[in-house]
Amino acid sequence: MLDISPGTKIDTMLSKLGQALASGDIDAAVNLFQADCYWRDLVTFTWNLKTLEGHEQIRDMLESQLSAAKPSNFVQDTKEAASEAGGVTDGWFEFETGVARGYGHIRLKDGLIWTLLTTMTELKGHEEPKGFRRPMGAEHGHDRDRKTWKEKREIEAAELGYSVQPEVVIIGGGQGGIALGARLRQLGVPTIIIEKNERPGDSWRKRYKSLCLHDPVWYDHLPYIPFPENWPVFTPKDKVGDWLEMYTKVMELNYWGSTTAKSVQYDETTGEWTVIVERDGKEVVLRPKQLVLATGMSGKANVPKFDGQDVFKGEQQHSSQHPGPDAYAGKKVVVIGSNNSAHDICAALWEAGADVTMLQRSSTHIVKSDSLMEIGLGDLYSERAVQGGMTTRKADLIFASLPYRIMHEFQIPIYDKIREKDADFYAALEKAGFMLDFGDDDSGLFMKYLRRGSGYYIDVGACDLVIDGSIKLKSGVDVSHLTENAVVLKDGTELPADLVVYATGYGSMNGWAADLISREVADKVGKCWGLGSNTTKDPGPWEGEQRNMWKPTQQEALWFHGGNLHQSRHYSQYLSLQLKARQVGIDTPVYGMTKPQHLS
Ligand SMILES: Cc1cc2nc3c(=O)[nH]c(=O)nc-3n(C[C@H](O)[C@H](O)[C@H](O)COP(=O)(O)OP(=O)(O)OC[C@H]3O[C@@H](n4cnc5c(N)ncnc54)[C@H](O)[C@@H]3O)c2cc1C
Repeated sequence: MLDISPGTKIDTMLSKLGQALASGDIDAAVNLFQADCYWRDLVTFTWNLKTLEGHEQIRDMLESQLSAAKPSNFVQDTKEAASEAGGVTDGWFEFETGVARGYGHIRLKDGLIWTLLTTMTELKGHEEPKGFRRPMGAEHGHDRDRKTWKEKREIEAAELGYSVQPEVVIIGGGQGGIALGARLRQLGVPTIIIEKNERPGDSWRKRYKSLCLHDPVWYDHLPYIPFPENWPVFTPKDKVGDWLEMYTKVMELNYWGSTTAKSVQYDETTGEWTVIVERDGKEVVLRPKQLVLATGMSGKANVPKFDGQDVFKGEQQHSSQHPGPDAYAGKKVVVIGSNNSAHDICAALWEAGADVTMLQRSSTHIVKSDSLMEIGLGDLYSERAVQGGMTTRKADLIFASLPYRIMHEFQIPIYDKIREKDADFYAALEKAGFMLDFGDDDSGLFMKYLRRGSGYYIDVGACDLVIDGSIKLKSGVDVSHLTENAVVLKDGTELPADLVVYATGYGSMNGWAADLISREVADKVGKCWGLGSNTTKDPGPWEGEQRNMWKPTQQEALWFHGGNLHQSRHYSQYLSLQLKARQVGIDTPVYGMTKPQHLS
C-alpha cells in the first residue's frame, strides 16, 4: 500500500472538517473526532477560552455556536510542514469565521482528530496596521493645519480621560497591563492604563534587589518587540523595568503613572463603569465601557496571622516589601516560606552576611534552572529551538495546543528525566531535611504553576546553601507565635530574629475586585486562576481553562489579565480581540460560561 504523507492526511481531514462545518452537519463534524478528543477554542467559535472534551461537549458547542460562527476556508498552512511521530500526525491550518480569521493546530490519531486548537488572529475589517497596512508616518503633500506626530500625541494625551472617554481602562500597569495596552493600541481601542507607581517597570524595580527573571529570555518576549539577540538569558529586574518603560513609550501607550484607582462601579443601565482615580493628587472620573484588572496575580500579599506579631520588636515584611539584604548584615533573619521568593531572599541575605533560617512548612517542588531550560523548555523556548527554526508564535501555539486535561501526561516524563539526571542533588536536599515534591501527580513545575501558581523554586544556587547548612533550615513545623525577639515554633524551637520575612505568596486576583468594586462582585466572579484539577490548592470542579483569566466573567464588562510574561504575551491577543469586537459592536455570543467557584 502506498504511504500517505502527513501533509495529505491533514489536507484530507481539514477538507472533511471544513465541509461538515460549512454544511452545518454537526454529526459529520463530531464523527471526525476520536472518542477521546479535545477541541480547544480561543475565541473563534465560543467567544470564550474553552476546551471541549469528548464528542458530547463538542456537539453541544457546535449546536450552540456553529450557525453564528460560520466557519470556512480550512486550509493547511504549507509553510509549516505537517509531521508524524508515535502514531500522531500533526499540522497547522488557517480558517475563517464570519467575522474573523483564525489559525489552528490539529493532531490526528488513527485517522481521526485527537486534538484541535482554533485561535483568533484578527477581526475582518479591523486588522492591525501592519505589513502592507503599515502607517505612513509622514504625510506627504501640503496642509496649513498640519500637525506633527508629536503634536497629535500631545493632543490625544491631553484629551483622553478628560474630554474624550476611553473604551477600556486597565487598572495595573505592570507587564500585563502594558502588553494588553500595546495590543489594544494597535487595534485602535482607546485605552488608559492606570498605575499607582510612578514609572512603567516600577513593579519589577521595587521587588527585592537580587531578583532576576526566573524564566529565560526566549519565554519572555513582549508582543511586537522581541528582546534583541544579545539580551541576557535571565533579565535582571531593573533591566526588565527599563525595557517596559521603553516599550510603553515607543508603543505610544496612554499610561497614567502615579495614579491610583480608588473605587469602581458598574452601571448596568448605561453599560458603563465609573472609575475614580487619583492622578497626581487630583481626582479624575473615567467612564470606560470595559474594565480590565491587571493588578497582578503576585500582587495581593498573603500574610499569615500569628500571635505575638504585635509584640515582636524587630521588623516584619511580606516578601513583596523586602528591600534586599543590605541593611541586614550580621542580623538574624527568619524567612517563612520555601518557594521562589524565600530562596532568592535567603540566598541574598546569606551573601550579605546575615544569619538566615528558612522555615519550610510544607513540601516544595525544586527544579534546577539548567535542567528546566534543557529538558523542560528547550524544545520550544531556547537558543537551540530558535536555531532549529522555532518562532515564539509557533512555540506559544504548540504549548496552547496541549489540552490541560492531559498536559500532566506530557509533563510527567520530563520531570522523571530531571529527577534521574539530578538524583544526587535531590538526595542531598532531602538529607539536609528539605521536604521535596514534584506535584501531586509528579507533573512538576508548569502544572503547579497553572493549577495554583505557587509551590516551587527554580534553583539558581540557593539550594546549595541549604544543602551545606549556610541557610539554616527548619522544616515540617509551623509557627506557634512570635515573642519580642523570636519566632517560636510549634515544636518549641525558638528562632531569635531581628527580621521576619513572610514569603508566603499571594491571594486570588478577585480579591482586587473586592477591594476596588465590591465583595459582591468579587464573589459573583469567583476565584481567578487554577484549572479545577482537585490537586492541592486547585480545588475542583474541573474547569479545563484558567478560571476567569482573559475571558468573559460573570460580571459584565469585567476582565482579568495577568500571569507570567509568556501568558501575558499570548493571551493578551485573545483578550484584546474580545475587547475590540465589543467596541465595534460585533455580536459576541459567549459559549460555556461557568459558575463561579470558590470565593477567594
Ligand atoms: C519574586 C517574583 C519573581 C517572579 N519572576 C517571574 C519571572 O521570572 N517570569 C515571569 O514571567 N513572571 C515572574 N513573576 C510573576 C510576576 O508577578 C509577573 O510576571 C508579573 O509581575 C506580572 O505582571 P502583572 O502586570 O500581571 O502584575 P504586576 O507586575 O504585579 O503589576 C500589577 C500592577 O498593578 C498596580 N496596581 C495595583 N492596584 C492598583 C490600583 N488600585 N491603582 C493603580 N495601580 C494598581 C501595581 O502597582 C502593579 O504595578 C515573578 C513574581 C515575583 C513576585
